[in-house]
Amino acid sequence: MQKKQDLNIVWFRNDLRTKDQKSLYEACQQPEPVLGVYCFDPKQYETTKYGFKKTEKYRAKFLIEMVSQLSDNLKSLNISLQVEQDAPAGVFEKLSEKYNIKNVFFQAEWTEEEKQVENAVKSVLKDTQFAEQYNQFLFHPEDVPYDDFSQVPEVYTDFRKKCEKQCEVRDEIPVPEALTRENLQHVNTKIPGLADLGLEDFETDERSAFPFQGGEDAAWKRLKYYFWETKKLQFYKKTRNGLLGTDYSSKFSAWLANGSISAVSIYHEVKKFEKEVKKNQDTYWLIFELIWRDYFKYISLKHGNKIFQLGGISNKEYDWGNSEKAFKQWINGNTPESFVNANMIEIRETGFMSNRGRQNVNSYWAKEWKQDWRIGAAYFEAMLIDYDVHSNWGNWMYNSGVGNDPRDRKFNIKKQAERYDTNGKFQRTWLQESLF
Ligand SMILES: Cc1cc2nc3c(=O)[nH]c(=O)nc-3n(C[C@H](O)[C@H](O)[C@H](O)COP(=O)(O)OP(=O)(O)OC[C@H]3O[C@@H](n4cnc5c(N)ncnc54)[C@H](O)[C@@H]3O)c2cc1C
Repeated sequence: MQKKQDLNIVWFRNDLRTKDQKSLYEACQQPEPVLGVYCFDPKQYETTKYGFKKTEKYRAKFLIEMVSQLSDNLKSLNISLQVEQDAPAGVFEKLSEKYNIKNVFFQAEWTEEEKQVENAVKSVLKDTQFAEQYNQFLFHPEDVPYDDFSQVPEVYTDFRKKCEKQCEVRDEIPVPEALTRENLQHVNTKIPGLADLGLEDFETDERSAFPFQGGEDAAWKRLKYYFWETKKLQFYKKTRNGLLGTDYSSKFSAWLANGSISAVSIYHEVKKFEKEVKKNQDTYWLIFELIWRDYFKYISLKHGNKIFQLGGISNKEYDWGNSEKAFKQWINGNTPESFVNANMIEIRETGFMSNRGRQNVNSYWAKEWKQDWRIGAAYFEAMLIDYDVHSNWGNWMYNSGVGNDPRDRKFNIKKQAERYDTNGKFQRTWLQESLF
């Protein structure tokens, strides 16, 4: 029998980049050839019990673009990316018939569904070593001032202050040097289109606040624009509660969620901006928000599956409703509140909604209408281009009264609309005049 070729695999999941990419970097330091693998897992494109897909067309399109750019960027390092439309366990099983897979390098995920997928892969690759990296944080789990995750505080400010004082953000990991041409495996691989994933094609709505493409180069292009070309970072804190247009906030979330750019890279660019252009409250505030992102990751590490449960991490009991009629009204922008409606139409038509909008529609659904907050979170999971399991479920708990908000606030929607959409332009953009 012919001896199988030794191989190391970088299994890409939510780390679709080449810069500050620990798994890729480590794999490239080994003597064996390297192959990248990405799986469009059909499970992610199934219809949920609520009647919509787990991943709707907006994020799916963005992902396709990201994977395609990753494939190009890896090729310049003489690494092939094998892309499959199949469950990872099946893909790895097939690969193991051809190769002797010595090591799989991948980014750690710890939420239930991601862990199940990982365990299924491990069960088919019994003789393989798995090298797991926590490469999605700003403050690395080995550096935070807590011996274990149970010590992570329930109040964000406590977490932020302690980390800022006692923790240093690590340096970026460089893009590895290109491997020799012999490394490039000839893989027969096709990146699926939207139709292959059971989704319809669409044109980007011209009103979209997020008309951007997926991918590592696109993420850096946006950073270059927002920081260096327009220098809008120096006004970030003043504009971040905006509702219309591309530039009221950084719009980094979607690339961050799937790892086309790392929080560490953004942090170092902010520091560079502060040295070369301006350092103020606004530049700091972007880091402040990136620490929120980290915080929700630590909260889910601490509380595990509780973040998906009705009582959340606070185990609070409310009399939650489950009205299909209310749900239809909410998602189609047919509530009595035009500010909620405008935001809900925005997400339906574009896959994006501002942070201000998200807080309001969440509060309205869970606190005004007292409907099961998990239905709203699941709808966001389907629709958002920037869906991130920790940020989404963590924020939903927070605004629904079952998470980390010590003040347990309910938004006064009318007041919010008056304050943030004073002249009604946002509402007019998304609502027909007759409805507004
Ligand atoms: C109900 C609800 C659901 C949300 N779901 C998601 C989600 O699935 N994915 C997601 O990335 N963000 C989510 N957020 C957080 C926030 O709304 C988005 O990160 C932000 O609007 C994205 O736009 P931006 O990149 O321009 O943000 P900016 O204002 O430019 O912020 C910079 C970065 O900081 C991080 N950040 C900012 N605000 C938050 C926050 N409240 N929580 C965590 N991180 C934050 C993001 O990574 C963001 O890209 C949610 C917020 C709410 C209220």
